[in-house]
Parts: sequence; C-alpha cells; structure tokens
Amino acid sequence: MKDFLNQRIDALDRQGLRRSLKMVVTAQGREVTVNGRSVINFCSNDYLGLAGDERLRVAAEETMRARGFGAGAARLVCGNFDVHEALERELALVKHTPAALFFNAGYMANTGIIPALVGRGDAVFSDKLNHASIIDGIVLSRAKLHRYAHKDMNSLEGMLQKASPAGRKLIITDTVFSMDGDVAPLKDIAALAKKYGAWLMVDEAHAFGVLGPTGAGLVEAEGLGDEVHVQMGTLSKAAGAYGAYAAGSLELKEYLLNTARSFIFTTALPPAVAGAALCALRIMREESWRRERVLANAVLMREGLSALGFDTLKSVTPVIPVMIKDAALAAAMSARLLDQGMFVAAIRPPTVPAHTARLRVTVTAAHTVEDIARCVEAFKRVV
Ligand SMILES: *Cc1c(COP(=O)(O)O)cnc(C)c1O
Repeated sequence: MKDFLNQRIDALDRQGLRRSLKMVVTAQGREVTVNGRSVINFCSNDYLGLAGDERLRVAAEETMRARGFGAGAARLVCGNFDVHEALERELALVKHTPAALFFNAGYMANTGIIPALVGRGDAVFSDKLNHASIIDGIVLSRAKLHRYAHKDMNSLEGMLQKASPAGRKLIITDTVFSMDGDVAPLKDIAALAKKYGAWLMVDEAHAFGVLGPTGAGLVEAEGLGDEVHVQMGTLSKAAGAYGAYAAGSLELKEYLLNTARSFIFTTALPPAVAGAALCALRIMREESWRRERVLANAVLMREGLSALGFDTLKSVTPVIPVMIKDAALAAAMSARLLDQGMFVAAIRPPTVPAHTARLRVTVTAAHTVEDIARCVEAFKRVV
C-alpha cells in the first residue's frame, strides 16, 4: 500500500496540488501565530471576529462546569441537554422560522438532510459550484443529480422541464458561494421551484451572520422565508463556534429528528459547544456593528485588489477570490504573502474547477483599515 500512497502523493506534488497543514498556536483572530510567526489572518471564516472572543470561551467554561464535557450519547438517547434545546430556540428566533434542529456540523447537516428528503427515483438540482458536502449528501441519497451551470436559470429550467414528473424534485443552492463570494439569484430560483413544484433548500454557511437586515442570511435579505423549505447553515463560520442547523417548519424539525441519519447515529456535541454557540447568537443579535464592519471591510479589500488589476469575479461578500488560474503559482504566491506577514490561502482543484486556482482572501469585522491596506500592498509585491 505504501507504494500506491507514495505514487499518488508524488503525483499531487508534481501538479502543485499537494496540501499541507499549517499550525496555529494562538486563539483565532485578526492576528495569529502560524508556523512560528505572527501574521495577519486573511483566511478564516470567522467573519464577525467571534471565534476567539472571551465571552464564547467563558460560556463554554460555564456550561462545562455545570454539565461536564462529554454528551455521553446521541441526542435521541440521553445526550439531549437543556442547552441544546435553548440553542435551537435561539436559532429559530434569529432565523425567523418556527423551528430549528441542531446538527453536529454543516457537513453532517447536508449529508443528513438531503437523504432524508429524497431518494431513488427522485431528482436533485444543484448549482455546479455548490459545496462538497451538498454533493456528498446527494450521492448518499441515491437521487438523480442534475448539476446546473453556475447561477444559470436557463440551465436550471431546462433540467426541471426534462426531469421525470413522477419523483420528488429538490433544488439546492449555496446562498453565498464559498470559493467565489457571489450570491445565488434566489428570487429567480424560488420562482422556478414554485413553477415546477420543486422543494427548495439553501445552504447559508457563508451568509448566516453576514447578510440580511438582522444577519439571518440571504433568505432574509431577499424576503423569501415563505418560499424556502429548508434553510441549512453552520455555526462554525460567522458565529465563531461549531455545529449547524436546519431551520424551517415544525414539521421539518420533527421529520428530520426522526429520519436524518447524521442526526440519529452520532453522539451529541458536548454541551459546552452548544453553550458557546448560544452565546455567539446572542452577541450576533446585539452587536450589529460587527456585520456592518465586515461588509465595509469587504468593500475596501475588493476595491484595493481590483485597482491592482486582479480579477475578483462577482464577489459581493467577505469572501474575495483573487484569480490566479495556475495552481502552482497560486501556492507560490500564498507562500510569498506569508513571508510578508499576510496569511492568505491558495485554493486549488479539486476544491475549485481545474485551471481556476485562486487566492481566497476573507475579511472579518476584526480587521482594521490598516490591515487591509497592508494586505493590498503585499499583493503588489508578490505578483
Ligand atoms: C463550511 C461549509 C459547510 C460545512 O460546514 P461545517 O460546519 O464546517 O462542517 C457546508 N456548506 C458550505 C457552503 C460551507 O461553506
């Protein structure tokens, strides 16, 4: 087996696609110590700057003091703590939905929700750039996968027309695309869902806490709460914690609780994790300046990088791609940026399509205007 593994690793190396871990030895935040040096962090999804917040740590500690560390069993056995339920009530409140079910991670939410809703003989319509966890959920469901061209409504409608009228139809889209930072045309998608009798599910991983008048996400921003049947999102990004949710009707929660295998067959998250997430949701509600600041920072960063002639695609969010195309060059530029004290991730295939390697710059509410100016300056030096 070692020969096989070495051959494959060498092949990745030659294509500039080999990945390696970088080690962080400080709390998450605008400045982190990575590989032994202090750098400004432009690659976390910690959009509101909450991951390293003292209050989350204290909430986790207090919950842990009262409830211990391990949950001991699945939620449906004896691992359902009061704090898990309090978190679900708070989630329903901030999502403006009748109910919410807490999952252990976004990856597990997608691989649990989708197979619970569709199966063999059904059809799923998925944007080509949807997150890998959505694809894996569809594969697990055994429903037929129709991948429509990115945000292309003609492509989606053509596939909806051709699909068998017999089975159930489910349209799924990221609301903010994780590697491009653009947003889905949700009104148009909702109209097509209605026209063709399809259910609509969204993944708000990068929108939750960032978009919408109260930070609930793109569904809130577009006023589509009644048209979207399942709103999935994660607490590991803007909320700075961990875990995920499915928000929607009371019936949706009751059904998923009884059928989603990634909910049923896994140990509940430690109560302390739920305690920290609950604290984060309350901060998100009270400190709207964080949302305003991350969006303002995104505008500054995008303007600075565009002025240097970089292509940032259609980004309108704190996720800002800088297109490099060549995977090895993107990796080399990321290394040179790190030398300049700027931590920016290179994103390469298979995370993005072939020949679309990029540097993915993310800004947070914790960055200062000077941080952003220094990052733009560093980009000038590494081209
Ligand atoms: C990060 C992400 C997930 C996975 O969420 P985790 O909680 O990190 O497992 C799912 N969907 C999208 C679009 C994501 O960006």
